[in-house]
Amino acid sequence: MTSDIRVRFAPSNTGHLHIGGARTALFNWFFAKHHAGTAILRIEDTDRQRSTEEYYDAILEAFEWLGLEWDEGPYRQSNRMDLYQEAAEKLLSSGAAFRCTCTPEEVNAMRERARAKGKTPKYDGTCRDRYEKEPNVPFCLRLRAADTGETIVDDILAGEVVFENSQLDDMVIVRTDGMPTYNFCVAVDDIDMRISHVIRGNDHLSNTPKQVLVYQALQEATPKFAHISMILGSDKKRLSKRHGADSVLEYKERGFLPEALINYLVRLGWSHGDQEIFSKDEIIANFALENLNRSAAIFNPEKLLWLNQEYIKSADGGFLVDSLDAGLRKQGLPPDVLSRKTREGIVDELRTRSSTLVDMIEGARFFFEDDIELDEKAASKFLTSESSELMLKLRNELNKIDAFSSENVKSAFHRVMDEEAVKLGKLAQPVRVAITGGTISPGIFETLSLLGRDRSLYRLDAALGRVNQ
Ligand code: GLU
Repeated sequence: MTSDIRVRFAPSNTGHLHIGGARTALFNWFFAKHHAGTAILRIEDTDRQRSTEEYYDAILEAFEWLGLEWDEGPYRQSNRMDLYQEAAEKLLSSGAAFRCTCTPEEVNAMRERARAKGKTPKYDGTCRDRYEKEPNVPFCLRLRAADTGETIVDDILAGEVVFENSQLDDMVIVRTDGMPTYNFCVAVDDIDMRISHVIRGNDHLSNTPKQVLVYQALQEATPKFAHISMILGSDKKRLSKRHGADSVLEYKERGFLPEALINYLVRLGWSHGDQEIFSKDEIIANFALENLNRSAAIFNPEKLLWLNQEYIKSADGGFLVDSLDAGLRKQGLPPDVLSRKTREGIVDELRTRSSTLVDMIEGARFFFEDDIELDEKAASKFLTSESSELMLKLRNELNKIDAFSSENVKSAFHRVMDEEAVKLGKLAQPVRVAITGGTISPGIFETLSLLGRDRSLYRLDAALGRVNQ
């Protein structure tokens, strides 16, 4: 059973789906799902100069990655021109709209005159009753605005916002070239799609009275509005490229999990007690527009990273292995030099120490390389003649053990440590450099066991050869 709650997310395909847009989309989507309503995707592509097919595809790809499915759409405004035409004709015949033959120069001059008198610069109504006299001149269509009174937007978040009608222009709804204008299309679409709630960024608040005038002229009830606060960077400036990645697909590239990004973005302005980690179902169950924060949200990349790590910690092992495999292949490394079971072990070791999938893949690289590159600084510090004696002893112990399990590897280490009266660090760190190339890795016993006997001994031998050169 669906309710009559209907919302839309309406990106323009003039750029990528960015973080702010994704959050608006999520608020719409979760609001619809909470109310068993309908979530619609509408692409606003009437700006022919700036809209591209690449961005259209990229927006859909971003939603696919996020795993957000829309109940209706994608609709495209460019396919809906007949609808706008029809609405314009209706307004013309009811007298709510009029043909305007004023030239751009004349309109500019009107504005200048108003400005000179200290009034709001706007169209002065010249053509409201004039058109019939000059039928052969090119014209645009304007909507007759009320000269007095107020247009009140009762916003769920911003409260009552009052616009003086005397400030509103007779706005153009169809240009001289026949193209319907932005605010007109938005209102006509929202009416046609029976949108019950318009949830969008508060950068659109100033468009709202113009759209409300279209509703009134078409004698339609206005939807409810909720204008959500912006996302700011830590410098309190509107979030943009300057603050790092701002497109959703960039987060995919950087190894974020869609669930983590969704969780983070929804929590950016919405809360439910002090819970931080929410499944999609939990958000659906608890989402309410009234709980949205009215003040601007500050984007915190460290918190997003923390959340991502939490999601990686509890991610499905199969998913992590698939991600690892894909990442390795991209770098030209064949994942199947180690069995899937071993790769499951590797991701289990790395999941607690990786903030992103990229980190995890980076951390796993050495398992899959044939000849690892040693970090020079670490090698000259740890691969010394002193340590090489210990490593050689360990090598021989490792060669003797039965199953190459982490327990057996550990016992081998302890035999050497006891015999030579050295602490674990003295032995583990050189071995780590020898088999991973650097000084940071999961536990040494687990690492050796996962790498397997052959590859471990081969790397130890290579390191010993290097010291004895
Ligand atoms: N197309 C607008 C944008 O991309 C959104 C318009 C709306 O939600 O009404 O910002």
